[in-house]
Amino acid sequence: MLNKTKVVATIGPATIEKDQIRRMMENGLDVVRVNMSHADYNFCREVVKNVNELNDELGLNVALLMDLMGPEVRIGRFMNGRAHFYKGDKVKVYMDDTLGDNTKFSVNYPNLINEINYNDTLMVKDGQMAMEVVDVLTDFFVCEVLNDAVIDDCQTISIKGRKINCPYLTNKDQSDIVMAHKLNFDFIALSYVSEAANVLSVNDMLINLKNNHIGLISKIETEDGVNNIDDIIRVSDGIMVARGDLGVAITLERIPGVQKKIINKCHEAGIVSIVATELLSSMEHASTPTRAEVSDVANAVLDGADAVMLSGETTTGKYPIETLKMMEKIINSAEMDVDYADFITRSSNSVKEDITGIISLNVADAANRLKCCAIIAPTNTGYTARMMSRFRPSCPVIAVSPNVDTVKSLQLHFAVTPVLIDELNSFDKIIEVSKKLTFKLISTKAGDKIIITGGYPFKEIKYTNFMKIEEL
Ligand code: PEP
Repeated sequence: MLNKTKVVATIGPATIEKDQIRRMMENGLDVVRVNMSHADYNFCREVVKNVNELNDELGLNVALLMDLMGPEVRIGRFMNGRAHFYKGDKVKVYMDDTLGDNTKFSVNYPNLINEINYNDTLMVKDGQMAMEVVDVLTDFFVCEVLNDAVIDDCQTISIKGRKINCPYLTNKDQSDIVMAHKLNFDFIALSYVSEAANVLSVNDMLINLKNNHIGLISKIETEDGVNNIDDIIRVSDGIMVARGDLGVAITLERIPGVQKKIINKCHEAGIVSIVATELLSSMEHASTPTRAEVSDVANAVLDGADAVMLSGETTTGKYPIETLKMMEKIINSAEMDVDYADFITRSSNSVKEDITGIISLNVADAANRLKCCAIIAPTNTGYTARMMSRFRPSCPVIAVSPNVDTVKSLQLHFAVTPVLIDELNSFDKIIEVSKKLTFKLISTKAGDKIIITGGYPFKEIKYTNFMKIEEL
């Protein structure tokens, strides 16, 4: 059974070994994420090498996503890698690289001291520790800790209810984008996107690098990001609902509603949506998830998210492989309850009524009504497959392409299983390859039907102009 909802998993110390990545790839991993808030370039190179080698060994096309640190303010390092703070403690915050302990720490944004005011509340590590500013001096300011917490090196710090004004594209992000380009990453996730201009600035960098492959995923994790979502969607290839930081920027109880609205808007616009953070977080320490977590993953699937993402579960968690297996089981079960007909109705309201739009709509509708076991979409640019994904058909869309970049760019799209093939040069060859691939990837029985759809003649036609129903 090919799952339709995609799984992104972050690689960390618990999963950097090639064999761990292999087991994750064998258990449904579609996109590997490297989080540049924690990874250095040696780590990036090792991940890329392992994934590339495993793609060759296993005949897969798992894609690579680099998640930028973004313009976030982080605290520096502690003497022992972490420090314990207790309610009522006074802590000095320095603007240089002072090594921290339980009385002081530093931040990586020197201008923070000019932006904070007396009585501001600062939130450390996604709000796990709150501190109130009680004094501001020349080289440091002083905060009173409002709750007990253990804080590790390099955690985020933000001002509650207010944005910190550092420039969007930091030097670090710019170097990381160049590295993503050199290492052939397929997607870049942009942290703390608050307006379309942030995305356009990264797009300009990619144009200068002559890179037209990398897809840009905007992470929504600020109030401004939520408010400007329509403009951000217009310039992005996908949106990540980054619930960790979002839960600090807006009240926690708003997250489910915001998540549902963003998924719907992405679906309407035909771009991908990823639901991220704490989906199975109890599996960092336990071999089974809570009922609430199972429900959270299933609801993301039922709402029509293209992908779900694992972070701590696979970076430092004790059960990364079990988490992947559990994710696949929940997705598989939830997909049986998806209201596919409703998705077609909703997509048909927003689709352009041109030849591609009408053929895609009818392919998805016919596949559902005829209970087809697969839609096969030969594609050079990925266009036909993306269109099919938008209609959320009830069967997998096997996108076949001779272009490896196209294949990887489709890894985040709902329902699409992208497969690299040799150049197709006749219609008979398409039918033959389509049948062979269906037998290989799906368990079929005599009389099962597939629909083949695409643009023919290949390379000449740049839109979808045919559908062919075949019985196996
Ligand atoms: C998040 O905040 O939910 C997120 C995915 O971003 P990061 O892991 O960079 O905090």
